[in-house]
Amino acid sequence: MARYAYVNGRYVEHRQASVHIEDRGYQLADGVYEVVGVHDGRLIDETPHVDRLDRSLRELRIAWPVSRAALGFIMRELMRRNRLRDGLIYMQVTRGVARRDHAFPTVDVKPALVLTTKNTKRAGVDPGPGIAIKSQRDIRWERCDIKTVALLPNVLAKQAARESGAYEAWLIDADGYVTEGASTNAWIVTQDGELVTRPVDNGILAGVTRHTLKALCAALQLKFAERPFSLTEAKRAREAFITSATSFVTPVVKIDGEPVADGKVGPTARRLREEYVRFAATGASVT
Ligand code: PLP
Repeated sequence: MARYAYVNGRYVEHRQASVHIEDRGYQLADGVYEVVGVHDGRLIDETPHVDRLDRSLRELRIAWPVSRAALGFIMRELMRRNRLRDGLIYMQVTRGVARRDHAFPTVDVKPALVLTTKNTKRAGVDPGPGIAIKSQRDIRWERCDIKTVALLPNVLAKQAARESGAYEAWLIDADGYVTEGASTNAWIVTQDGELVTRPVDNGILAGVTRHTLKALCAALQLKFAERPFSLTEAKRAREAFITSATSFVTPVVKIDGEPVADGKVGPTARRLREEYVRFAATGASVT
């Protein structure tokens, strides 16, 4: 079965899909993206993902390439063509194609829109054995709240993690606090059972999964605090985990080679994953 991509108004075979060499996303990382999870044929948290795309576009003064309604249609049409039941939809908008210059094009340039999909195994309630984390200095810019395609520091951090045998990197700011993962948000459960994640500001991406989990914690009446936590505190935590559209809730069992607590998946992360998978199956959006 052919796999399709959507490129600027056309559904094309994935292996033949391409963009112009002077696309500003390609040359200058002048673009934004979103990743929406798909679970059992349903988009997870579609509305907040499209809202965040809208915010990213506004922050960079890139126009919407199509209407919001049209984007919803394109996502579903690509899912249909690619028989996507579980996995993700990737969408990217760049400022468009123009003669290379750092400043915005002065002629009218249409933003470029690309969508692809990826099929994966259905995410289940079983969190697996948990993952290892490697800490890395956070060397990113001051607008990590914008979901841009400029991901080189994240790429390098993730690669360093993988080369050390860890799955994800946790990025550490100048004061020793964990900002977030290379492509996930970071959480801990303290020794007295409080869930902690860093507050949303321009130092991290406001994860949609993070936001949904916050709502689930409130519904479950779990103790929850938004405050920065240090790497030292994380290493002494009772539990730790990451969240994202593709990892859902994934427990962290090792940080920089040291086990978190007894090095086994803890009950809070296990329960929150179950709750999140249940939520994902509803196709609802937390607003
Ligand atoms: N932080 C970063 C840097 C990310 O790239 C991502 C996802 O790609 C996240 C956090 C998690 O965001 P979400 O839950 O919306 O996938």
